[in-house]
Amino acid sequence: MKIVRVTATPLNVPLHIKLVGVDRKSTLSSCYVEVETDDGLIGHGLSGITEEDVIAQIVNGVAGPAIIGDDPLAHERIWDKLYWTLMPRGQTGYAAHALAEIDIALWDIKGKVANMPVYDLLGGKARAGAAVYRHADGKSLSEVEENVRKYMEQGLLYIRCQWGGYGGRIDQIKAPENAPEGAYFDPHGYARNTVKLFDHIRNAVGDDIELLHDVHERLAPIEAVRLSKNLEPYRLFFLEDALSPEAVDWFAVMRQQSATPIAMGELFTHPQEWLPLIQNRLIDFIRCHISTIGGITPAKKLAHLCEAFGIRTAWHGPGDVSPVGHAANLHIDLSSYNFGVQEWWGPSDLIKEVFPGTPELRGGYLYANDKPGLGIDIDEKLAAQYPPDNANAIRPKLWTTARTPDGGSWRP
Ligand code: MG
Repeated sequence: MKIVRVTATPLNVPLHIKLVGVDRKSTLSSCYVEVETDDGLIGHGLSGITEEDVIAQIVNGVAGPAIIGDDPLAHERIWDKLYWTLMPRGQTGYAAHALAEIDIALWDIKGKVANMPVYDLLGGKARAGAAVYRHADGKSLSEVEENVRKYMEQGLLYIRCQWGGYGGRIDQIKAPENAPEGAYFDPHGYARNTVKLFDHIRNAVGDDIELLHDVHERLAPIEAVRLSKNLEPYRLFFLEDALSPEAVDWFAVMRQQSATPIAMGELFTHPQEWLPLIQNRLIDFIRCHISTIGGITPAKKLAHLCEAFGIRTAWHGPGDVSPVGHAANLHIDLSSYNFGVQEWWGPSDLIKEVFPGTPELRGGYLYANDKPGLGIDIDEKLAAQYPPDNANAIRPKLWTTARTPDGGSWRP
C-alpha cells in the first residue's frame, strides 16, 4: 500500500460554543488534511489552531510531497521522517501541527485497513466511556454556582470553575496614564478571589462533584505556590497551568508545600519539557495538546511513560481543538489505563453536521462510535461553504495581550 495524495485545505467553520453562562459565536479555524492511499482509502486529519493557512502551506509544500509513495501503515518511520524534515533540531510550532494532522490521518487509515476503531489498535478499551469536564464561568459567585448546578443537572461529574474568566474579574484596575490597551487583570486580586470562589462553590454544592480550576499562568511562581496551598481545603481534582513552561522548576517547591493535584502541559511541545516533571513525580496529570506534540503516535508514548510514574492523562480539549482532534483524544482516553479526565467543549449542531461521527456526550461520559478508524467524517460540500477568514479567527487579538495593572505585558 502506498500514499498517493496528501492535501491540506484551510477551513473556517462557524462554531457556536455552548457553555453554560457563555454563548459565544465564533469560528473553528482549521486546516483539513486528507491522506489517500492507492487502495482509495482516505484518512482525515484536522488541526485546531487559528493559523490554518500556514499549516496548509507546510503540508502542501513540504510534508505531503515528502511522504508520497511511502507505506501509510509505517507510522514510526513516517513520523520520524516528517519530524526531521519539518523540525530539524527540535524546532516546533506550526510544523508540529502539520505533522500531527498527517499522523492522525494515518491512524484513521490504519483503522480502516484493519476494519477496527483506533482505540482497539491502541490497546483496546480500558473503559466504556471517558469522563469529561466542562467549564463554568460567571461574573458573580452566585452566577458561577448557578452554572455549576446546570452542569450537575446535565450529569457532569467534573466541572472547572472560573470567576470572571482567566485572571478573574476585577472591577477596578488602577493603571498609569497612557497605559496601552489590552486584557487587564490583577494577579493579587485574582488569587484572593479564587480562594473565595472555591470556598463558596464547595460549601454550596457539597463534596459529590469534582471541581477543577485553570490558573492559565496568571500568577508569579510564589503566588501560585500560595494559591495551591490555600485551595487545599476545597479538594480540587486538579489545578491547571499553575506555572508557565518557563517556570516549571517551581513545581518542586509547590509539591513540598501543597497536596493540591497539579495538571500541566497544554503549551509543551517537546519531551525535554515534560520529562523532568514526570520522572520527579512533580505533576499528577499530563494535559498536552496532541496536535502540538505531533499527533497520536507521540501522545500514546507519553501516556505509557506517565503510567509508569502514576501520572494520569487529561488531554487539552478546548473549542479550538477540531472535532477530529477531539475524536483522537477520545480514542487515546478509552485505550489508556492511566486516563484521568477529558476536557470537552460542546459542539454545535452545525459542527456535528459538518463532521458526522463527532463523539457524543451522555451523562458526563464521552462515547466513541465503533466505526473503523477514528469514526469521524467530513461533509466536504458543507465544509466548503466556510472558507478561511482570519478576520474571524477564534482567538481575538485582545486575548493575547494580557496586561498587569501597570500596563506591563503578561503571558496570555
Ligand atoms: Mg488551560
